[in-house]
Amino acid sequence: MYRKKTNKGLLIHYHSHVDNRYKRSLIRTMFDRTKRLSSSPDLFSKECYDLRKMFLKLKYPVKLIDSIFKTFHASQDQNQSCIKPVDSPVLITLPFKDQKSADSGRRHLSDLGKKIDRVLQPVFTSRKISEDLKITETKPSLVNQQCVVYEFQCNSCDSNYIGYTSRHLHLRIEEHKYSVIGKHLKDKHNQRPTNLHEQFTTLKKCR
Ligand SMILES: [Zn+2]
Repeated sequence: MYRKKTNKGLLIHYHSHVDNRYKRSLIRTMFDRTKRLSSSPDLFSKECYDLRKMFLKLKYPVKLIDSIFKTFHASQDQNQSCIKPVDSPVLITLPFKDQKSADSGRRHLSDLGKKIDRVLQPVFTSRKISEDLKITETKPSLVNQQCVVYEFQCNSCDSNYIGYTSRHLHLRIEEHKYSVIGKHLKDKHNQRPTNLHEQFTTLKKCR
């Protein structure tokens, strides 16, 4: 640690007429400052050793110095164990809508994180993209089928619906946006029936 040349350890002498509480807090403060200024635990130990020597020179009782250091050290250990989880951010999954709402979400998490002393890191997911990809990969054949027994299996719960259509299945799926299925998604899950297709499978083809 860098120490000014003028710093010759001229602190309060133990036998000066100052309240004992003040001397105790002086020792604590010095340990605390040393801790903050030491870049490594080794350096801190060495600085503490020097600090102890300096207080001894000022006629502070060994017992007093050591007991304050012990308490200080214990409280540091406690702080350390509190700091650890703060270092690893808590990941919060948020749906990505647009850049503006993403920025605002990030800001809100940051503010909230400061309040609870945690680093909250948003992870933006785009459900839409993954769903679109799935549809282009596997669904075209399904929805172009005619005369099928089909099953709707809700993505969000165990509910299902089995029906029959003689027309192209995709027409029937369109209609289901406004049927009990659309109503179920809205009432039970507060979802709009935007990607109904992927929740349908054909059970039987009749012709
Ligand atoms: Zn459901």
